[in-house]
Amino acid sequence: MNFNKTLDGIKTYEAGKPIELVVREYGVDAKNIVKLASNENPYGTSPKVVQAIKDIAHKMFLYPDDSMYVLKEGLAKKFNVDEDEIIIGAGSDQVIEFAVHAKLHSKAKVLMNSITFAMYEIYARHVGTEIIRTKSREHDLEEFYSLYLEHKPEMIFICTPNNPTGDAIDTAKLKEFLRRIDNDTLVVVDGAYMEYAAFKDKSKSVSAEELIREFSNVLYLGTFSKAYGLGGMRTGYGIGNKDLIKAFYKLRPPFNITTLSLEAATVALKDEAFVQACIAKSFEQMKEYEIFAKEMGIEIIDSYTNFVTLCLNDDQSSSDISLSLLKKGMIVRDLKGYKLNAIRVTVGTAKENIRFFELFKEIIGK
Ligand SMILES: *Cc1c(COP(=O)(O)O)cnc(C)c1O
Repeated sequence: MNFNKTLDGIKTYEAGKPIELVVREYGVDAKNIVKLASNENPYGTSPKVVQAIKDIAHKMFLYPDDSMYVLKEGLAKKFNVDEDEIIIGAGSDQVIEFAVHAKLHSKAKVLMNSITFAMYEIYARHVGTEIIRTKSREHDLEEFYSLYLEHKPEMIFICTPNNPTGDAIDTAKLKEFLRRIDNDTLVVVDGAYMEYAAFKDKSKSVSAEELIREFSNVLYLGTFSKAYGLGGMRTGYGIGNKDLIKAFYKLRPPFNITTLSLEAATVALKDEAFVQACIAKSFEQMKEYEIFAKEMGIEIIDSYTNFVTLCLNDDQSSSDISLSLLKKGMIVRDLKGYKLNAIRVTVGTAKENIRFFELFKEIIGK
């Protein structure tokens, strides 16, 4: 069958391999599998959320409250913005999709970092948009600005902290950059890991409120999938000027998140203590990776997230190493597809990380 030609240029998104698949393909016992591939919270979900879901499980026959009022109210309070400056998506992925469809088309251009979250490109390709990328590995806002002047893109993606490299932009520099961008260019600031950056270094912490008050063309994205421990619930959000949000609403399917997701996200917001405790433990454990990388003589990118990117030496292939790890039940992310000889590893629990260190050493024969 012939399909829309835009599909020819699209590579299917490769999600971190699920545990079930490793069991089937490599015959590893499920209880010996460690998944450090999708940056989920290794400490799980707040027990208060788990209880709340049990309590409302019998309500799943009902469509969710499509106004999503309680969740928006919680987010409005957290970010000090209005409910009508918020849109909820089935993951922030869906909000990216809304933004792309609201702004881009086959004659438009979009600007993004050389190495960044893969879904920006995939959605942009859905609508046949030309993709412009920087060259630098980390966000270089000067380079962004000169490409902006050269190409006049309709949309710009900024991911801070960036996935899959973990580095973050200084907030002051980000704002300076935004002041130089015209009002008709939609700038998405993806803060999927912002809770981690805010914990580690205030100068990297971006306030959605400040952004949308100063810039009517900026969309801030957040998610419950990472620090909030709700990857399985598919809930994210966008915060922006009322007019932006109103436009995105035209693209939103009704009931786009579930009754259970809505409850989980609402309750998760109320247990900030759980989230902060998980983040603290994550950075404690990250030190072990720094020590490990030094010991192994490999580069580790300074990370403001819950993952680390290990840039391997020339005689080590990221694909070979990730495959060997996989066969031993350790799932990490090979960054070869991003043209980096590196692996991205979610900082797990102490036990999971020790297992990673052991297996890595075993594979490279140290
Ligand atoms: C995980 C992630 C998202 C989206 O996650 P959802 O589960 O769709 O909310 C968005 N951006 C980045 C950079 C991410 O790492």
